[in-house]
Amino acid sequence: MDTSIEPSPPAALPASEPVARVVLKPRKARPFFGRHPWVLDSAVDRVDGPAADGDVVDLFTDQGKFIARGVYNSQSRIRVRLYTWKAGEALDESFWRARLQAAAGLRAQHGFDDRSQAARLVSSEGDRLSGLVVERYADQLVVQVTAKSMAVRLPLLIPMLQELWQPRGITLRTEREMNKAEGLSLKEGTLVGEVPEGPVFFTEHGVRYGVDLQAGQKTGFFLDQRDNRRAAASYARDRRVLDVCCYTGGFSIAAAAIGGAHEVLGIDSSAKAIAVARAHAELNSQTRVQFEEADAFQKLENLYQQRELFGLVIVDPPKFARTRQHVEEAMRAYHQLNRLAVSVLEPGGILVTCSCSGHVTREDFMFTLAEVSERTGRDIQILETRGAAADHPVNASCLESEYLKCLVCRVG
Ligand code: SAH
Repeated sequence: MDTSIEPSPPAALPASEPVARVVLKPRKARPFFGRHPWVLDSAVDRVDGPAADGDVVDLFTDQGKFIARGVYNSQSRIRVRLYTWKAGEALDESFWRARLQAAAGLRAQHGFDDRSQAARLVSSEGDRLSGLVVERYADQLVVQVTAKSMAVRLPLLIPMLQELWQPRGITLRTEREMNKAEGLSLKEGTLVGEVPEGPVFFTEHGVRYGVDLQAGQKTGFFLDQRDNRRAAASYARDRRVLDVCCYTGGFSIAAAAIGGAHEVLGIDSSAKAIAVARAHAELNSQTRVQFEEADAFQKLENLYQQRELFGLVIVDPPKFARTRQHVEEAMRAYHQLNRLAVSVLEPGGILVTCSCSGHVTREDFMFTLAEVSERTGRDIQILETRGAAADHPVNASCLESEYLKCLVCRVG
């Protein structure tokens, strides 16, 4: 498929200079002096001037002191996303280019510019580009826009992505919830160049995977777990492995192909993910890996009843806490899932347990393990505390960007 977006006339882009001042309520300024990039509607007192959604605005304290410059969106709970703390810095073409170049430079330093592999090239807050995620799968780019600020600037950003990474094609991915939260009307599909109908193949630690980028059958890939897949695999030798919430089989196949596992069972509730996982096993000639469509809680309970035991159990459930209000409920789900996982682990077995809920802290997550230890009477030693791979940098001023926790434990 070869389609192109019409280059928008420059007039369609918002100005790079501020059109209005956003004034905070008293005593609300601290986090923004602390360089947190999200100004919530509840902190805003008023907007002085004619700001349209996507326009550049300056943020001021109630006392009239300049704090930072960002982009306005009346439709989002994140009323302003902040991009610079330098007074007077224009958010113009060269500003955005410099940010993208910095992101590219970091990836090159880490060797993530290999076009046979996959990497996250731009990671939103982690790269000071709140609302923009760009991933590369071999010679294809996938762009995800989660903010109005970036949506209105796509005509400016897309040519820069082409210039920097020279992909064969660029696909836009959207999430309905995100579009709603930000008032976006983006449609997913090919933005520029050629995007193949079938899967795009790439390698990770020498293992081959495919992702389907075309709408309809699309499958993504969790690049943030790249290094954790290798870490988990390093404990797999000659062990019987259970991969809970295996999605398209990343941990399972790594455990077999690079870890030398004796046998692997991957389970996931999504039939589509299981079909792709099986295709991945075949692609890598892995015959000791089996996949099964099942509910994690139910299957673990059954395995426990049948007294099945494993030497390595990997648990990587979806985001249980979507919002701060769901944390308690999420903690119960993490507790239950990890307790079940421990119950099918042989003495001295390894548990690799993950949480990708930004609202659940590393400490909370560790506390869950202490509770599991109390309930099961099994000692749990944490051997490694891990996060996302280096192409997913964490912004120290925005700890919400530290969402992925991965603990490698020995269970006595
Ligand atoms: N470990 C994977 C990513 C896991 S994403 C990787 O490395 O690629 C979380 C997965 O959990 C999704 O595939 C989703 O289908 C699955 N899932 C969600 N709820 C589930 C449940 N109750 N039982 C089993 N799988 C579930």
